[in-house]
Amino acid sequence: MQDDITIKVHNVTIIGSGPSALTAAIYSGRAELKPLLIEGSENPGGQLITTDEIENYPGYSSILGFDLVENMRNQALKYSTTIVPKTVTKVNFRTFPFELYLDDEIEPLKTKAVIIATGSSAKRLAPSVEAGLKSISACAVCDAALYKNKRVFVIGGGDSSLTDALFITRFTNDVTIIHRGDKFRASKIMQNRVFNNNNIKIIWNSEVMQCCGEKKLQSVELKNNKTGDIWSEPCNALFIAIGHKPSTDFLLNSGLELDNDGYIITQPDTSLTSIPGVFACGDVQDKKYKQAITACGSGCQSALDCEAYLTSLDDLSN
Ligand code: NDP
Repeated sequence: MQDDITIKVHNVTIIGSGPSALTAAIYSGRAELKPLLIEGSENPGGQLITTDEIENYPGYSSILGFDLVENMRNQALKYSTTIVPKTVTKVNFRTFPFELYLDDEIEPLKTKAVIIATGSSAKRLAPSVEAGLKSISACAVCDAALYKNKRVFVIGGGDSSLTDALFITRFTNDVTIIHRGDKFRASKIMQNRVFNNNNIKIIWNSEVMQCCGEKKLQSVELKNNKTGDIWSEPCNALFIAIGHKPSTDFLLNSGLELDNDGYIITQPDTSLTSIPGVFACGDVQDKKYKQAITACGSGCQSALDCEAYLTSLDDLSN
């Protein structure tokens, strides 16, 4: 397969394997662009496959994240997508066609357009701290409903943490935010909403040192970083909202414009990046919404933008 993919110049190569990548593949495939999708060699499927039940994806009252991704993948295959289980390690956008290097392959593959849909990953606590326990999640929208009337903790002092805490109060009146600082960095409006919500308590200047329990989380060991006090708090669930890291390391020195946090910058309301012919969709360019359905929407946009770009190339060469 590697020989096949390096011999010819592809129309469009999609990098990623989550909902935005697969939607881009479905649309590009149906536009008869014969897309190539490089899905990564480890854990393809993106963050969605780590989610159990999804109950807010329109059209399904409930579906496993794994099954939703598998359905999208099969749909992409149906429309002539070639899926390659390799990882893009380096890109050259300074030449045309663009060059993408896979794993340790010496020969790059060549492509007229690239759609980057590599997503982001939620930052987590150290594996030794999380201790492999259940009921620890990085997605309140996905999992909060599982903890009706339970004692729920949220870590972080940014907009995500406060948004999550407020969201979780729909299901329980016992939410506690644990923040390592003595003030939030979240927007004022979110801070006011949290301060005015009687169902949310705040533990300041404190960090989770250890998650404890038998298979499921039962308590957390906390340390006050001002006083050094260490104590244990019982809880049924822990939501970690300490930021995300976009998967853009392979774009180092590519010339593609990223923001200070490493997210790809796209032009408003489009998937266009700073390099013509390179498009971005999904969480790798979205700090705010980070939902499967919004990722699908932007995957669709990127395929339509890409199709228009390829048509303009054809017009130029005629
Ligand atoms: P942020 O980077 O803004 O906040 C992360 C928080 O986690 C900080 O309070 C930080 O503490 C804390 N933190 C980081 N690492 C650790 C750690 N190892 N242990 C404990 N705490 C830690 O990330 P967000 O995801 O909250 O927001 C990202 C961006 O998305 C922001 O620009 C935000 O405004 C935006 N956003 C907007 C929303 C909206 O408009 N509705 C909703 C959600 C996000 P410290 O403060 O001490 O550094």
